[in-house]
Amino acid sequence: MMKTHDVVNQPPVFDYNLFSSDLALQHAVDRMDAHWSRESLLAYGRKTGVHLQHTGFDANNFKPVLRSHDRFGHRINQVDYHDAYHALMRDAVEAGMPSLPWNKPCEGAHVARSALVYMHNQAESGTTCPTTMTFSAVPALKHQLDVTQPWLTGVLSKHYDPRNRPWYEKDGLTIGMAMTEKQGGSDVRANQSVARPIGAAGAGKPYYLTGHKWFCSAPMSDGFLVLAQTPKGLGCFLMPRWTPDGELNHIFIQRLKDKLGNWSNASSEIEFNGAWSWLIGEEGRGINTILEMVAMTRFDCMLGSASLMRQALAQALHHCSHRDAFGQKLTEHKAMQNVLADLAVESEASMLHTMRLARALDNINCNAANAEHEKHFMRLATPVGKFWICKRTPDMVAESLECHGGSGFVEESIMPRLFRESPLNSIWEGCGNIQCLDVLRAIAKSPAAADAYLNELDCERGSDSRYDHFLSQLKRDISSSVFSPASARALASRCARALQAAMLVRYGYPSSAEYFLSTRIAVEHSIYGAATDTENHYAIIDRAIPAAG
Ligand SMILES: Cc1cc2nc3c(=O)[nH]c(=O)nc-3n(C[C@H](O)[C@H](O)[C@H](O)COP(=O)(O)OP(=O)(O)OC[C@H]3O[C@@H](n4cnc5c(N)ncnc54)[C@H](O)[C@@H]3O)c2cc1C
Repeated sequence: MMKTHDVVNQPPVFDYNLFSSDLALQHAVDRMDAHWSRESLLAYGRKTGVHLQHTGFDANNFKPVLRSHDRFGHRINQVDYHDAYHALMRDAVEAGMPSLPWNKPCEGAHVARSALVYMHNQAESGTTCPTTMTFSAVPALKHQLDVTQPWLTGVLSKHYDPRNRPWYEKDGLTIGMAMTEKQGGSDVRANQSVARPIGAAGAGKPYYLTGHKWFCSAPMSDGFLVLAQTPKGLGCFLMPRWTPDGELNHIFIQRLKDKLGNWSNASSEIEFNGAWSWLIGEEGRGINTILEMVAMTRFDCMLGSASLMRQALAQALHHCSHRDAFGQKLTEHKAMQNVLADLAVESEASMLHTMRLARALDNINCNAANAEHEKHFMRLATPVGKFWICKRTPDMVAESLECHGGSGFVEESIMPRLFRESPLNSIWEGCGNIQCLDVLRAIAKSPAAADAYLNELDCERGSDSRYDHFLSQLKRDISSSVFSPASARALASRCARALQAAMLVRYGYPSSAEYFLSTRIAVEHSIYGAATDTENHYAIIDRAIPAAG
């Protein structure tokens, strides 16, 4: 071998535990009553650290493949996944990502589960989709226990069973969700798919469904919650992959989408022609029935985006703390410190915002004394967070990618994958505008939601004059708010900034809180790294750097 040069000034392999290295996450877990889960989070931090090195790459580089027919021409609707996908799914299910808070409704259970998802999604995002849908389906399935009890047993089992067999032969089940049709995803009331009762109509009864869905992710799920028109309006149906008679149901996968990102997760177009399904809840109440599932998936979208931010930040910090330029580590250059500190604050604010909502879910789930307040708080905090955190992610990830220079643009690093993932959560489960319109709707129709939100913000009143001023203005904006769609984004943004400031003041690192107040409350945030007061930057960066091991 001809030796032409020594390889120097490259960072070492980034091999680390996603929990033990994340001080902000550990702090949130402790403060929000999930300290009892530390041991399992530590173990999952190690596992996801390994997936980050290998499995996540394989699951995405070897994309799922649709085999519509077998070699003899029979229609089989089979999607094949790489082993890495199954390994990730197995770990997620066994750790309790789809089931933990439902199986163990104790204080901190949603927080502990959120920490699991936060780590898993950093290593690989595609498998978060089926586990999220399975997790989120539980409240909707509970609407029709006479039908769904055996399904719930499988969903909550912590057993991953990828076999393409009827649900009643399997120990572990996954659930998908199919609402979006070609003519409209935001406007699901325009759904064209129709349901015809097989015998008597009504809740829990079987129907045949005919129509299509334009997006149906995780098409190998054991069952799907599907919206279709009944004579009384939209109904919510549980459509099993196999009929109760052991026949493949009449669900036809037409093709898999060729997507910008989220490659490990198959997203399909499906048609169904007389597909056997049960009505969950009443005819005409479909949107209400599926709404609880939608609320949980929206929560997971913000959780997923916060987790992408953390991974992007961790990669940027690792690179910059090992790479020299002009005789100094990148982390020692003032201009780079500005960028990294800003990214670290954005990441911590997004994580704390999300974890506060997880805490609210725990309080609701455990019927705590403040459960009513928490329900109202969530009504507004969910669309606010779904809009803001998901919307901030692509910029944040792009800036983290740029910290790597050219190597961040190369597929051998995880950065291109994170970048491709970064816009998705903002589209899924209701795009940005839809969330902001929901914020307006919540304020207009549920005064208790606005009150609960402002009460939450009031807890930090008096901690900082910039915050107090911002809060007073926000209160005026909310109380004088009329349903004006043109102002929806502006109002939702202000609601989000106020809550993130409050969360950093209450739970965060004091230097991060100060940074947030001076760059996002005293003024509007423009681009990353534009702060002029650099006093605490290194402390913020130092705390966020993931330690190896
Ligand atoms: C990778 C991927 C996987 C998916 N998986 C699934 C799945 O498993 N199941 C499923 O059901 N769906 C799935 N979806 C679909 C997704 O939920 C929809 O794409 C989304 O809800 C938007 O619907 P749409 O695509 O029809 O866009 P549209 O509804 O046409 O919206 C287009 C744009 O118009 C805006 N808009 C709409 N209405 C208004 C309004 N009143 N005022 C202002 N602006 C408005 C929206 O904000 C958006 O920016 C998936 C999507 C992707 C990308």
